Amino acid sequence: MQNNHCPLCKENQSALAFVSNGFELRMCEVCDLNFIHPYLQKEEDRNPLSPGKQLAGEQLSVNSYFKYIAPYFIEAKSYLDIGCGCGGLLKTVANFNPIIGRYGCEGDSERAKFAADYANCEIFDHSIFNADNSKSFDIITLINVFSHIPNLDDFFKKSRIMLNENGKMIIKTGLFKKGFKKNNLFDWQIPEHVHFVGDRTMEYIAEKYRFKLVERVDIPLADELISKNFLLSPGLSTFRNLLKKIVYFTPGLSFLLKKIYTKYTKGKLYSRIVVLEKGDF
Ligand SMILES: [Zn+2]
Repeated sequence: MQNNHCPLCKENQSALAFVSNGFELRMCEVCDLNFIHPYLQKEEDRNPLSPGKQLAGEQLSVNSYFKYIAPYFIEAKSYLDIGCGCGGLLKTVANFNPIIGRYGCEGDSERAKFAADYANCEIFDHSIFNADNSKSFDIITLINVFSHIPNLDDFFKKSRIMLNENGKMIIKTGLFKKGFKKNNLFDWQIPEHVHFVGDRTMEYIAEKYRFKLVERVDIPLADELISKNFLLSPGLSTFRNLLKKIVYFTPGLSFLLKKIYTKYTKGKLYSRIVVLEKGDF
């Protein structure tokens, strides 16, 4: 039997989905995590957009999903955004609740500096694995970061320590249900992405690390990809930026494309938001 243990549940029961960039993408039959094999992360300048362009994309994205998570910020007193980028979400939270204590964590030092100025709060420019345990938070967010975390077990143990009692961890990430195809996505960004959530993965995580899963929202990826947020977000390719603008500004075209993409991906691809609450469950 091949040695391709799931990095989350450690079981050795998985099925091959496809091969990309010389890596297998395998789906665990126990916890549904989709993980690359061999499980080796390569972090190359994966998103070399300038801070200004990056922020424009972040802000459009935040505008589309903030309504789902805003209620959690009403009473919270302290907040950490892991992988905060240029500070788009931190700034939005400040406008929503001006007295909440805000912190960010961003590995890219140029973006960390930008975020500190833009969101006007402290940004740690190191991994949370190196953070001391003196600070803890009512809310921790993890927005489009899950697929990059190199060690899930250490991460969830560490984040539990960094959450206050009944604190909430809000995760937003791509969800790929059994039966997805390689050509469902233009670029899987493997091996920068080392794993993707499957249908039961978040429930498994909640149980294993003693969280209560208090909310789950699934947004079809077609709605997210063929949206104002995505179509007007500046990317690196001028040609693709132009195409996206044409789609956005041509009456009826984005509606038609969304219908086609939804049919094509047959309900397998979503963006999932989950809220995990710390407690002794
Ligand atoms: Zn597993």
